[in-house]
Amino acid sequence: MSVKKVVLLGSTGSIGTSTLRVASEIPERMEIVGLAAANSVTALAQQVKDTGVKHVGIYNPEKEAELRVLIPADVQVHVGLEGLIELARLEGADMVLVAIVGIAGLHPAFAAIAAGKDLAVASKEILVMAGELVMRAAREKGVNILPVDSEHNAIFQCLDNRGSSEAQNDEISRLILTASGGPFRMMPIEELESVKLEQALKHPTWEMGRKITIDSATLFNKGLEMIEARWLFDVEMDRVDVIVHPQSIVHSMVEFIDGSILAQLSTTDMCFPIQYAVTYPDRLANDLKPLNFSELGKLEFEAPRRDAFPAIDLAVRAGTKGGTLPAVLNAANEVAVDAFVEGKIGFTDIWQVVEQTMDAHEWNAGETLESLIAADEDARVLAVGFL
Ligand code: NDP
Repeated sequence: MSVKKVVLLGSTGSIGTSTLRVASEIPERMEIVGLAAANSVTALAQQVKDTGVKHVGIYNPEKEAELRVLIPADVQVHVGLEGLIELARLEGADMVLVAIVGIAGLHPAFAAIAAGKDLAVASKEILVMAGELVMRAAREKGVNILPVDSEHNAIFQCLDNRGSSEAQNDEISRLILTASGGPFRMMPIEELESVKLEQALKHPTWEMGRKITIDSATLFNKGLEMIEARWLFDVEMDRVDVIVHPQSIVHSMVEFIDGSILAQLSTTDMCFPIQYAVTYPDRLANDLKPLNFSELGKLEFEAPRRDAFPAIDLAVRAGTKGGTLPAVLNAANEVAVDAFVEGKIGFTDIWQVVEQTMDAHEWNAGETLESLIAADEDARVLAVGFL
């Protein structure tokens, strides 16, 4: 078994730091060869020292000088989007793990595939915006797309690569994504309007970055995941389902046409899916906390409240229509979440801004990356008008 050489984009974030933890646990299988962040130079410089990488990326060019003085002189600094793309193509790297918030990971993801590297995807935006193009490019290049998100990683494990041929794909009856339900799972619909930022930032089961935590509260996170699953596993939107599971122990399930359901379970720690994405198809022993069923007691499931949380239906609409609509949903949601964080709009306005933007957008089939990026830009302008 060889060491996988991994470039990590978004290394200072929640997924990034968990990935570095995994790398330090399994040095015989995983070596970090490149790191990148947007602005956090102090943390990034520390990571450069800890990992000994010779290549580092900084997205914000204004931070380059600051970074350079903090790291050894023989470390090559890659700057801006071009720098991320250079890292994605880094000679000698086997895999690129993209854990950047927002769409800055899109071009590096395509660059990695074009360079023949396996792509481990945490950033939702990549598959939500360009899932069809990404999967096609990966097929053409013969590279693996490995899901890092716990739900998709769970499905990937349950399918054991079954979705890779048409006949096997036909055996899938439903992909069942589990959702914690977020902090407002039980909140009466009329109270949702007055939800404050601090409340939305309290996720019941997972510690994550800010944007995804708010998306978990609106259920847009689950909606985005439904669209990702549709492309990753090549099933139509009506075979992608969601069930609320407050304990977040079952990370997702697959129902097959014979009625059997396979599920993947573990304690809530992103190191599980990250490790499997890197070591796939092998499994490796680790020190992560195992599940203790007698302590756990019970696992609960309930239908999502689609009337109270319209994000799911909006995502189904976007995923079913395809083309530019998922990119529009994603961009409008980003604008709305930022506005909510800045106190410009209320919590329930997030859904409204997204719906109004989707209604106003002039749809097209989004057959090129450029057309999807144009749709993203168009949606951002439209969404600002609905704040
Ligand atoms: P965080 O906000 O914790 O971290 C984001 C990371 O991306 C930081 O390292 C940040 O650098 C970096 N970054 C942001 N923009 C750029 C850019 N333009 N160029 C280079 N680096 C950039 O986010 P998370 O780790 O929570 O999430 C990352 C992605 O993974 C998101 O798409 C999220 O939806 C997805 N995801 C996260 C999960 C989780 O458990 N956290 C689970 C599943 C998916 P800096 O520190 O300098 O800002």
